Amino acid sequence: MSVINHSITMKEDQAFIANTYARNELVLTRGKGSWVNDENGNRYLDFTSGIGVNSLGFCDDEWVKAVYEQLQKLQHISNLYYTEPGVRLAKALCQRTNMKKAFFANSGAEANEGAIKAARKYSSDQYGKNRYKIITLEGSFHGRTLTALTATGQADFHKHFAPFVEGFVCLPSNDFVAMQNYIDQNNDVCAIMIEVIQGEGGVVPLDKDYVKNIADLCKEKDILLIVDEVQTGIGRTGSILALEDYGITADLVTLAKGIGSGLPIGVVLFGEKTKNTFGYSDHGSTFGANPVVCAGGLEVMRRLTPEFLAEVKQKGETINSALAELPQVKNIFVKGLMVGIELIEGLEAKNVLAKCQQKGLLCLTAKTKLRLLPPLTVTQDEIEEAVRIIKNVLEEM
Ligand SMILES: *Cc1c(COP(=O)(O)O)cnc(C)c1O
Repeated sequence: MSVINHSITMKEDQAFIANTYARNELVLTRGKGSWVNDENGNRYLDFTSGIGVNSLGFCDDEWVKAVYEQLQKLQHISNLYYTEPGVRLAKALCQRTNMKKAFFANSGAEANEGAIKAARKYSSDQYGKNRYKIITLEGSFHGRTLTALTATGQADFHKHFAPFVEGFVCLPSNDFVAMQNYIDQNNDVCAIMIEVIQGEGGVVPLDKDYVKNIADLCKEKDILLIVDEVQTGIGRTGSILALEDYGITADLVTLAKGIGSGLPIGVVLFGEKTKNTFGYSDHGSTFGANPVVCAGGLEVMRRLTPEFLAEVKQKGETINSALAELPQVKNIFVKGLMVGIELIEGLEAKNVLAKCQQKGLLCLTAKTKLRLLPPLTVTQDEIEEAVRIIKNVLEEM
């Protein structure tokens, strides 16, 4: 019976949903905390959190309550009126990040679109027409809309979709000389856009000095620094923003994934320079600042106390010390609960992922790495269980 259901959902998915994803062979039906069930009643420990989205795990009681209470009051009203949840979330975000204002959208790509528009407007306000270029980095990922895709520094994603948006330059990462040369030789750059840890690009951190140098150069030249924290932000690395650990500030920060803990949201945060860049009718979004989504986001912010964040760091350390020593692990990068594992030659991350799934653990890959993004609420016991499964799988391969 359940087997029949299983194949119907998969078949109808293939028939009725555009085939853009390489899905794992599982139909997931319900979850609680770090655990999720498939339609046959099998239970899995989830170290994906919906790609860094379910910060508080599945169906966290207090998050559900916050969302449900708002859902019963007012689900949507448009940005032509004031509503409280968006205001409260914007204020909480600004207070915790030292940014000054927020704009609400619905996804990471959209947040990046907003930041790019703001950077162009800032520069055209200050310097006129011809200073509009955005520098992004090789290996970056900024989303799938045409502009965010143009910004994305990975050729794989660019097949089929030319022509791209004008005014983007892609430079190699961690090469400050290349950055400086470009900017010195071309007086046309309005912004540099980076992820301090490239997520989809393979969980690759940028060098601290490089990031610091870029931030200084931006200040010196009045070029805006856009930091895409869609994946790294809101506790994922054990800080509210990953840029805190780089000792820099940004003019524009984008958020999405983790802030909603499962409901669609994107945020542009504006710093001192850019806080009044957008004026009336410069940008907008029908669903932006949706009260239900913002109520969920507020619950996430309420939970991310300094103690909670310290625990995220500690949990990352546990994962690091358990996996770093394994003979099959060539290299591991851990920052909070953002984990990228490079396996020794001959071991393919996607095969490890498939075997882990058979043993009840859901993982991700990023490029050639095995990637773990557990919910921030994952327990030490659950980490031990995940580590046990990964060790087991690696030993058997
Ligand atoms: C996932 C991601 C995006 C795109 O977010 P969507 O919500 O899928 O549009 C952008 N930037 C980074 C760094 C991401 O990890």
